[in-house]
Amino acid sequence: MLQLYMPLHFLGFVYREIKHSLADMEKMFNLLAENEEIQDKPGAATLIAGNAPVRFEAVNFSYEPNRQILFDVSFDIPAGSSVAVVGHSGSGKSTLARLLFRFYDVSSGRILVNGQDIRDVSQSSLRAAIGIVPQDSVLFNDTIYYNISYGNPEASPEEVFEAARSAHLHDFIESLPDKYQTVVGERGLKLSGGEKQRVAIARAILKNPGILIFDEATSALDSKSEKSIQGEMRRIAANRTTLTIAHRLSTIVDSDQILVMDHGRIVERGTHRELLAMNGAYTYMWELQQQEEQTRLQLVSGGLGH
Ligand code: ATP
Repeated sequence: MLQLYMPLHFLGFVYREIKHSLADMEKMFNLLAENEEIQDKPGAATLIAGNAPVRFEAVNFSYEPNRQILFDVSFDIPAGSSVAVVGHSGSGKSTLARLLFRFYDVSSGRILVNGQDIRDVSQSSLRAAIGIVPQDSVLFNDTIYYNISYGNPEASPEEVFEAARSAHLHDFIESLPDKYQTVVGERGLKLSGGEKQRVAIARAILKNPGILIFDEATSALDSKSEKSIQGEMRRIAANRTTLTIAHRLSTIVDSDQILVMDHGRIVERGTHRELLAMNGAYTYMWELQQQEEQTRLQLVSGGLGH
């Protein structure tokens, strides 16, 4: 019986692992693939992105019938300013980004970019106006040059190198045996989480969009990479309308506005200081993260002491 149980138990483990990675893949495809249900209206206009202010107006949304995910979500991102969204896992943060990119249509309410309902403009013009730096970028099995230039296939080599420099990737690439011709991805050189995010930043720099969506990495990068990625993000976010999906509060304290989500609703909003003064959900999350950070530092210094 035990003999039978062990392999089954093991298979159960393998199955759960596979299911988990399939879930991640689904996430990836959700972000990349066209949703067939989303179609341009006949004669859809081209989005005039301008300096691209964004408005969510009384947005309700469900992926599936009978399970509402967003409830009456309204907020503004004035042109060139930054909004960060925080909240527990599953509270609906990434869903906001998917709706803005129009992978799905809102169930009711509307989303406006520069005053235009995103359902009235062509998807290609909407997506040309938005750059995404996802937490786990997909690399093509191709050269690192191709992977960066994907952000703007018409870019000249000099522009590609310049984008790599701005993303602090150029020196790393120059140190590789085949430099920009090095093949990366599953069958080539595997890049670290931080390096992959830098490729995404370089792509976004090349694309030069009015709106930027930054999905902060959940899996902690080492703190040096994380600090430098934040620095690069801050630089490319300057003067762009930015929506950041944040997992660590310390990274978003300077945002113009922070939205706190809970079960699909915005429960608090304001600057970091304003939110701390409210002494509510944000303060609780902030104090918890500060404690976690302190424990981590104590563990690190304890570990080094041995
Ligand atoms: P996390 O911090 O873990 O990334 P989140 O706050 O970004 O979480 P969302 O990804 O927006 O959360 O998910 C909100 C809810 O929507 C979750 O309950 C999730 O299970 C559900 N959901 C997400 N994608 C889909 C989908 N494609 N189909 C059905 N439900 C989905």
